[in-house]
Amino acid sequence: MNDVVIVGAGLAGLTCARRLQAGGVDCVVLEGSDAVGGRVRTDGVAGYRLDRGFQVLLTAYPAAQTWLDYAPLELKTFSAGARVWCDGRMHRVSDPWREPRALWDTLRAPVGSLADKVRIATLRAAARRGTMAELFARPETSALSALRAHGFSERMIERFMRPWLGGVFLDADLATSSRMLEFVFRMFAEGDTAVPAHGMQAIPEQLAAGLSAGTVRLNARVAAVEAGAVRLGSGERIAGRQIVVAAEAAGAAELLPEVEVPAGRAVTTVYFGAPASPLGEATLVLNGTGRGGVNNVAVMSDVAPGYAPAGAALVSVSFLGETTGDDRALVEQVRRELEPWFGAAVLEWSWLRTYRLRRALPVRWPLERRAPRAVRPGVWVAGDWTNSASIQGAMESGERVAEMILGATGP
Ligand SMILES: Cc1cc2nc3c(=O)[nH]c(=O)nc-3n(C[C@H](O)[C@H](O)[C@H](O)COP(=O)(O)OP(=O)(O)OC[C@H]3O[C@@H](n4cnc5c(N)ncnc54)[C@H](O)[C@@H]3O)c2cc1C
Repeated sequence: MNDVVIVGAGLAGLTCARRLQAGGVDCVVLEGSDAVGGRVRTDGVAGYRLDRGFQVLLTAYPAAQTWLDYAPLELKTFSAGARVWCDGRMHRVSDPWREPRALWDTLRAPVGSLADKVRIATLRAAARRGTMAELFARPETSALSALRAHGFSERMIERFMRPWLGGVFLDADLATSSRMLEFVFRMFAEGDTAVPAHGMQAIPEQLAAGLSAGTVRLNARVAAVEAGAVRLGSGERIAGRQIVVAAEAAGAAELLPEVEVPAGRAVTTVYFGAPASPLGEATLVLNGTGRGGVNNVAVMSDVAPGYAPAGAALVSVSFLGETTGDDRALVEQVRRELEPWFGAAVLEWSWLRTYRLRRALPVRWPLERRAPRAVRPGVWVAGDWTNSASIQGAMESGERVAEMILGATGP
């Protein structure tokens, strides 16, 4: 019998397995799909590396620092700051504390006042105070209310904070918890924004490679959780003293009716191959106009050249929420909206693929960091929906469940 059976080889399940094995406890990870990673997957299409939705690793995530070896991932970093499209022009807004050379451009950009830039420093200082546990216990309001309470001007919020943080939280309303706002500010302040050289899936693959051989079973969809065992769709019964369901919330609820599925946040990412980069900078580009559907653009190959074949560029274009209309209509919309940003070159871009992710992130409110507890005797849940909606939240949730199990079982 296995000591622990883990359902799901996303970041939560894999980190749980790593922590258990580091503690000397044997486990098996059953993954329903054909690869590890869950929501962190990368597809190879025509020589390009397409992450399933635009996403990044914040290198300051404590769980990532504990469980990942950054050097072999060959992390490629975004510059600190963004380009903002507004008033018919592209403006540079950099983090003046990390890129002092760009200060002058930043101050001239019609995106916020000098006072707004000073407020970024005060918000950052507040976010870095105290322990992470204290941060997640602070009074909670929406990110939007918190930004207003910090005194940011409406112009700064509309032109920069809404598209930037909206893209991070996948939430254009900025209704996300202010605790998440502070957490994200802390992470941005303390590390880099990066992607592995050949795609985000390298992250779960590295976690899996650190497990003992044979730990992960792919194409092993669990159909039921029973007392002391799980049953696969094939009927096979796999016994375990402890069961950890590390599926996404909807998947966990199919196995455990006691799980309540939180609302989800959606995003659509459209990828294009281009004969040349329209930007030539490892920078996020934000729509600061408050109009149109495109929220953010990144030329992934400017950040990590390995995302595109030699002599080509990979452009990622994201819309927040669910998009209507077919792929062709969406591509036409992108070309229409981005032609003023990048010129007629957008007409030469060739569409590669569109990812419509309806449940990309779970809504967490209140956003608490509670100690994991068993939902039934010997049955635990892990995943971003039990912690914070992020790579950190997923990894930490798996780590903490493993520690509870290790505490209960010995070494
Ligand atoms: C488009 C997008 C952008 C994002 N951007 C960022 C970002 O920039 N930064 C950041 O920190 N986070 C980001 N995130 C969030 C982050 O990717 C997730 O929070 C995290 O990957 C969730 O990991 P998880 O292990 O909790 O769940 P999942 O990744 O959903 O893993 C669950 C796994 O369980 C498996 N499973 C489900 N049911 C069963 C079953 N019955 N039997 C067997 N296996 C099963 C699934 O196949 C899946 O592999 C983004 C997410 C998306 C989708």
